[in-house]
Amino acid sequence: MLIVKKFGGSSVADKERIMNVARRCIEDYNKGHDVVVVLSAMGKTTDRLLEMAADINPDAKKRELDMLLATGEQTSVALMAMAMDSMGVSAISLNAFQVAMHTTSEYSNAKFKRIDTERIRHELDSRKIVIVTGFQGINKYDDLTTLGRGGSDTTAVALAAALHADACEIYTDVEGVYTADPRVVPNAKKMKEITYDEMLELATLGAKVLHNRSVEMAKKYGVQLVVRSSLTEAEGTVVKEVVKMEQMLISGVAADKNTARIAVIGLKDEPGIAFKVFNLMAAHNISVDVILQSIGRDGTKDISFTVAKTDMKDALNVLEENKDRITAQRIEADDKVAKVSVVGAGMQTNTGVASGMFEALYNVGVNIRMISTSDIRITVLINEEDVDKATRAVHDKFIPD
Ligand code: ASP
Ligand code: MG
Repeated sequence: MLIVKKFGGSSVADKERIMNVARRCIEDYNKGHDVVVVLSAMGKTTDRLLEMAADINPDAKKRELDMLLATGEQTSVALMAMAMDSMGVSAISLNAFQVAMHTTSEYSNAKFKRIDTERIRHELDSRKIVIVTGFQGINKYDDLTTLGRGGSDTTAVALAAALHADACEIYTDVEGVYTADPRVVPNAKKMKEITYDEMLELATLGAKVLHNRSVEMAKKYGVQLVVRSSLTEAEGTVVKEVVKMEQMLISGVAADKNTARIAVIGLKDEPGIAFKVFNLMAAHNISVDVILQSIGRDGTKDISFTVAKTDMKDALNVLEENKDRITAQRIEADDKVAKVSVVGAGMQTNTGVASGMFEALYNVGVNIRMISTSDIRITVLINEEDVDKATRAVHDKFIPD
């Protein structure tokens, strides 16, 4: 079997943990498997590197930031190869350049285009454990790029797809994917299995176990994932196309505080206004999530929508600058909001999820400010201070003890 094993930053945070990961990989290797290991940077290294950069130059060029951040993963792969070596197993570390993991050009948010497998195959054929840097790639200028925060998961899935691996295991510091954040909901449960689509919704909504693009890619290439702990032997959660076991109505509840609400008030109620507003957002690379348009009254209407908190200032500036063109009377913003979502493939065939969710929120006195849905998700926008209470209430409603 060819196994791709990815370990996150907390799993390689110090010497003990590196040795532990080395041992776990060697176990598989000793069973005769081909083992490819993908690593993140140790502990909080990436955050620290970003702080160092901000300290020197808050407007550092993204090219240089990627050059800097890529060192984090390079440190961990080299140390891991040394650790395995010290245990008498031959291992080799490779960075994005050496493997040749080609990405698009955009620094800090690059996407994989093509991965050469020759070098890795060659090393595996000579019975080495191959340890690859997560998170980084190279672009057409031969510059290092990075895939966005949390991107090592995507490296693992991309490698598993390119190598036609038999298994892709994502190791982290929790035992799998939970029905809610266990720090907020103490009776949250670990799921045995979850579908790609549900996982994608949860990952996008801010459940931090997996990078959302890694799930997209796993679905596209049919790479079955296992999310499990590097510190225990617990079974973990399988992410795959169809879940065999009896379908739960709701698979999980996710909360996301990284959201802000923008309201554009007193717009002319005529064709083309929504286009102008959202075209401005698109032109400035601001992604918009929940959208609500009021019913027109006296020839005017309001449009509100959510953006990431980090994009709020930009969005406000752009809208203010174009206030006349979009015919707005006033623009307001509020970043003390949060999203709570329920996700479940079961809601495609069951009614009553929306009303159940709204009832649970009503019972704990939480006011709903906006609502949006997909066929397997319902999201409400609420005040940020209510987010934990709301998450617990909604979880209790749908996920029995
Ligand atoms: N080290 C990178 C980060 O902290 C990538 C990753 O861990 O997946 O975002
Ligand atoms: Mg991660």
